[in-house]
Amino acid sequence: MSLHVREGAPRDPRRLEHANNLVGCLLAEWGDLKGCKLVVNNNRRSVLTWTTREDRTLDVSVHHSLLVEWGDVAAVILRRDDAAWARLSARLHAAPPDAPRRAPEELNPKGDVYDLGLMLRRLCDTYFNGEHLVPVGWGRWPSVPPRRGMRLGSCGGNPVVIRIHPCLDAPDVPEWFVEFVLYHELLHVVVPPSRGAGGRREIHGDEFMRLERRHPRFREAMSWEAQNIRGLLDRTARRTRRLAARR
Ligand SMILES: [Zn+2]
Repeated sequence: MSLHVREGAPRDPRRLEHANNLVGCLLAEWGDLKGCKLVVNNNRRSVLTWTTREDRTLDVSVHHSLLVEWGDVAAVILRRDDAAWARLSARLHAAPPDAPRRAPEELNPKGDVYDLGLMLRRLCDTYFNGEHLVPVGWGRWPSVPPRRGMRLGSCGGNPVVIRIHPCLDAPDVPEWFVEFVLYHELLHVVVPPSRGAGGRREIHGDEFMRLERRHPRFREAMSWEAQNIRGLLDRTARRTRRLAARR
């Protein structure tokens, strides 16, 4: 095993022990692996990646905060274990004890109707070779009613997380539309904002637009949104008022 710790990862006296456990577990279960190179990263986007090389060695890159849960990390790599990934996602977004941040919001991918975790995995498998998986969950209902418009999804934070508006977790919203909204947010992970001509920050640049149009239901999604956004806004406003009345 070789272990590399990237800059910015906090010191952890038990890191080597966790790393040994993880690599031991991978070597034991994988079958005919010759070795493993482990990188402890401090990435925002790619928090857990792995590739096998031609010489039958495995390269793993894992976020420093996840290594302590080496059993779950191994389960994701070996078996693509969704429950293990959900636990790791939650851990990633719990505030570290020394950082005065907002109270960590629970990230719940399972809605009443749709499971965003399954959807995101499907999208990553279909369009990106299983890569770019990030934590995903349903957002919270807003505390004030939306006025003219609202964002159906968001992608941001450090490390990055995708949230989808809870008004879409309803049986009258087609599954393919929710999946398209998720696809759009996933593209923000795949194509991070860049500096365009004149130093302007480009969020939906050319490459982003090209990939978005590549989605087989792009046009259909645009027209479904145009026809139904009013209804979604009304639904959200009603819900917000009900929540406010209860407070
Ligand atoms: Zn966008």
